[in-house]
Amino acid sequence: MTYLDNGATTLRKPPQVVQAVAQAMGRYASPGRGGYPAAMGAAEAVYRCRELAGRLFEAEPEQVAFTLNATHALNIAIKSLVGPGDAVVVSGFEHNAVMRPLHALGAQVTAAGRRLFDPADTLRDFERAVIPGTKAVVCTHVSNVFGYRLPIEEIAALCARRGVPLIVDAAQSAGALPVSLRNLGAAFIAMPGHKGLYGPQGTGILLCGRAPKPLIEGGTGSQSRLFSMPEDPPDAAEAGTHNVPGICGLAAGIAYVLRRTPAAILRREQALLRQLTERLSRLDGLRLYCGPGQTGVLSVTAAGADCETAAAQLARRGVAVRAGLHCAPLAHESAGTLESGTIRLSFSDFNSSEDVRRAAWALAALQ
Ligand code: PLP
Repeated sequence: MTYLDNGATTLRKPPQVVQAVAQAMGRYASPGRGGYPAAMGAAEAVYRCRELAGRLFEAEPEQVAFTLNATHALNIAIKSLVGPGDAVVVSGFEHNAVMRPLHALGAQVTAAGRRLFDPADTLRDFERAVIPGTKAVVCTHVSNVFGYRLPIEEIAALCARRGVPLIVDAAQSAGALPVSLRNLGAAFIAMPGHKGLYGPQGTGILLCGRAPKPLIEGGTGSQSRLFSMPEDPPDAAEAGTHNVPGICGLAAGIAYVLRRTPAAILRREQALLRQLTERLSRLDGLRLYCGPGQTGVLSVTAAGADCETAAAQLARRGVAVRAGLHCAPLAHESAGTLESGTIRLSFSDFNSSEDVRRAAWALAALQ
């Protein structure tokens, strides 16, 4: 199978990730729950993952909280800062993992920056939209539909100048772009462990620039006399038994990214994207959504073909892609593709030019 749905989850993982999960299952009990070797070993392994994530994202290990996925991390972040009726500014390219919690809270949401691949316009629009009284800004670093890289450093500087806390959704950038809690000065940065960090599904990270409010309450193995949750990260965000095998796999994934470097991974994905766009631009009837700085994600529409049907045809030819709205109707509304949806092809570090050739061949057969 040619797997080009890495924007959803990376299917191919470094072998050491799989080994780390299996090893942890046979070796570790729960961290912070005992002084015997299997519990102490678990605590060390979990802390090692915090250290590795801290190194990659320029954060202290204690600022790294483990979550189930990016959605869980975003829910903690948003519900720590936003209450009913609060004014929140988001980009025009947010995922439902941002929009639905805000909707459920009854926040007043303004979408700033609706133009695709136009960072200068995005920034100007944020400058207009972030006003006194704005309670928080929530912004994706990279659009999961189009690979559009938003000017997050400039948006972070704007938030700092105006004293508005920033939540960054790094779901599509972690592992491929520089993401620094220290440099961005964000209140929170949320990310999955199972995409560009090559960890298992069921893992995510919330980088905490400030204390998170617990989304759920329960045992943490710390401050056990209290009926209330500990107030500091990471414990405030980590009630209940950890996903120790998942976190060990995530540590192996992050170690892989640190060795390879995000810059080298991005270069590879962008090189594959260029090869793909070059091949596809020779085909009639395809519209490609491309722009400067694009990461390894490409959206395409095919004239006269419903994108879900087209994706099913690609699957029959052994090419796995995702079609439709990609849980991001706001992004499609911004780009004018809400009615049609798009076919999304997304690369990882494990794709090759052969995958590009097969995808182009399968898309050509749709004509
Ligand atoms: N935000 C963006 C931009 C995403 O692309 C995704 C997943 O596709 C999410 C959030 C949610 O991530 P998860 O599935 O890990 O909760």
